[in-house]
This record gives sequence, C-alpha cells and structure tokens, in this order.
Amino acid sequence: MNLFGYREGTFWCESVPIPQIAEKVGTPFYLYSKNTLLRHYQRLDESLAGIDHIICYALKANPSLSVCKVLADAGSGAEIVSGGELYRALRVGVSPGKIVYNGNGKTAPEIRYALESGILMFNVDSESELHLLNQIANELGCTAHVGLRVNPDIDPRTHPYISTGLRENKFGIPIEEALEFYRKANAMPNVKVVGIHKHIGSQIVDLSPFVESLQRIMLLVKELSRIGVHLRCIDMGGGIGITYNEETPPSFEDYVSAIKPLIKDSGCMLIVEPGRVIVGNAGVLITRVVHVKASGNKNFVVVDAAMNDLIRPSIYGAYHNIVPVEQSANCRATIVADVVGGICESADFFARGREVPELKAGELVAIMSAGAYGAAMASNYNSRPLIAEVMVDGSQTMIIRRRQTYEEMVSLESF
Ligand code: PLP
Repeated sequence: MNLFGYREGTFWCESVPIPQIAEKVGTPFYLYSKNTLLRHYQRLDESLAGIDHIICYALKANPSLSVCKVLADAGSGAEIVSGGELYRALRVGVSPGKIVYNGNGKTAPEIRYALESGILMFNVDSESELHLLNQIANELGCTAHVGLRVNPDIDPRTHPYISTGLRENKFGIPIEEALEFYRKANAMPNVKVVGIHKHIGSQIVDLSPFVESLQRIMLLVKELSRIGVHLRCIDMGGGIGITYNEETPPSFEDYVSAIKPLIKDSGCMLIVEPGRVIVGNAGVLITRVVHVKASGNKNFVVVDAAMNDLIRPSIYGAYHNIVPVEQSANCRATIVADVVGGICESADFFARGREVPELKAGELVAIMSAGAYGAAMASNYNSRPLIAEVMVDGSQTMIIRRRQTYEEMVSLESF
C-alpha cells in the first residue's frame, strides 16, 4: 500500500502533484509520504495486537530525523547499530527503554554512551564484545542487559549481500555454541542476560526462513530455561520483504500468524526490527532526464540523480520501477534503454536494458520504492552534494533535509 499515484496523467504524492514540488525544491530529491509510513507502522502494530511486543524501527533503513520522529510519535522503538543512530533515536524522543543495540563492531565509546542512556538491550555478537560490555558496565557501576545474537544457519533465500543468518556470514554466535556462551554471560557480574536475537537477512519474501530460524531459536530458549536461564525477550530481527517488481512478500497478518504459535507459551516479549517494510515503499526518488543518447545499438537515458544518491542497483543489481511523472495524453512508444546517472563509473545505473516509455530531456521521472537504503546510503562521490529530502503529509509539503551546498560539502575540510 502506498499513497503515490496518477491523477489525470500527473504523478502525485498524497494530495500534492509532484511537478509542483520539483518546481520548488529542484531535482533530484527524495520524496516520502508520511501517511504511507504511518500506515505501514500501524498495520504491523495492529497485526501484533494480542502479543506483548515492541516494534524497534531499524534506523539504518532511513535515519532521517523526520522519518524517525513520525515513527517515534506513533510509539515505535528503535533498532540501532552505532552511536550515531543512538543519537538520532534519542534526539527524536524514542524512549531508551525501547532501544535495542545490534552490530558486530560496537566500540568502547559507543557502549559507554548506550549504557549511560539506559537502553533496553545490547545484542552481543562476540565473546570479545561481551567482555568489553561487562568491563565498561563495571566501570560505570551499572548492569548491561544483554541478548545474544545467535546465527541459526538458515538460508533466507535473498541476495547474498543482505543474507546474514548463514554459518559463513560474519554475524552472531553459531547456534551450537550459544548454550556455552549464555553460561559465560550469565556468570558475569555486570551483565544480565535478558534475551535472544537473530536477524537472518533482508528482503525476505518467503515465510519459511522466518519460521525455521525461530523454531531453532525456541529449542535453545527451552534448553536455557532447563539450565535456569530464563529469558524475557525474543528478538526476531527485521527482514520482511517488499514489492519492488513482482515479488509477493507475506502480509503482516501472515507473518504474525506464522510466528505466533512458536512464541505464545514462552512468556517472553517479542521484539521485531523492521526497516524496509516500513519505509521502502513510502519513498521515491524524483529525478530529471538531462540527456537521451543513442550510442551504437544502445539507448541511454541520463538523469540528474546518480549512484551516489541511490546505490542499490549498482551494488545489488536491485530492481526499481521507473515511471514518468507526466503521462502523455497519447500512449507513448517505448524504448529499451539503460537509465544512468552522470558518475564516472559503468556501475552508475538505475536500470539496464529496461523497456521504458520514450523519455525526453527535461522531463521528470520517479524511481520507485526508494525509501529504504536510499538516502541512508548516499555519499558525496564525484563531489555531488547530498540531495534534498521532502515529506508530504496530505496537502502539506515539508523540506525535511535541504540540499547540501558546495560550501557545506567541503566545510569539514582544511587545506
Ligand atoms: N535488524 C538488523 C540486525 C539488521 O541488520 C537489519 C538490516 O540489515 C534490520 C534489522 C532491518 O532489516 P530490514 O530493513 O530488512 O527489515
């Protein structure tokens, strides 16, 4: 579900025609629909009704303060993987008691900051991290609440770069070693074991990897209980996929129905860490065609956004639907083209060999499903300033991050 669509041939976001925003803001820019964002959050929350749960929005998908604030105001917690994400979560008013800290490279200053902030739980990724956490908690005279990130060795059947729950991936503690690990953690004076965590990958469109990995985790939870370690939280991680092209991901209801029977008698609270499924289809990238070129037997549509703004096609070969903002009155001819940016890399493309309507220089196009891992992964490569981000709420348009100036782009440097 999203609130982008055509009205009389022009593409709108909620109650605002997109050309009107482009006129005001310039191109390229990210555009988010606030009510799509909210609806995704609320629908997931409703599906989880009846289960003691916290939704911890994964900031890595889109850390924009405005996006996070909309979700925090709706009651969301936060899943964080860095001191910077903790800062953002606290800045928009996420309650520390709803923040879980993941990641395999937490540093001492980051751990100190999170302990001082009183977050809900650290999901520990290694023995070395566990010792560091215990030591810093001791220095601060407090107790660190921990879950262990367990690697259940389940194939999420997604792109290898966003697959995290297989034995060969760098994340978590192998499930066979977890019991021993819990024993060690439980014996540490400044650590209190409260939970278990898994995250098997992202853009998962099949329910079975979620179910199989949870089954493995629940066997471990029972075993732990037998040795006197009683957990309070089961953290399912994120990973629910979205429709970019023709995928049919599970509905929230199907997801919850599949996992509920496995956790219902555990006495534990459920934590979920969705990112993409909340924000992915709530955002698009609006860009303008700058040149159309035929080169040999190939067509290239060159736009003013580039891989530094949206890198998913370049690194994952990800598919994003591309549509003209103005549909022509008459049906347009189509061409097969590469839609590319202006960066000096052949990997700088948004689509390759794609059948698209015949596009003209100067016209606007929307690159769809760009709300997650879009602006979040942007860079200044080729010294291109970070682009603007805009949020629409009904008929209101807000610039939530203005376009970076050249001056700002170099402002941290000296010579
Ligand atoms: N939790 C963890 C630990 C992650 O690594 C990620 C993504 O990489 C997420 C949650 C969010 O995943 P998604 O955006 O697929 O829901």
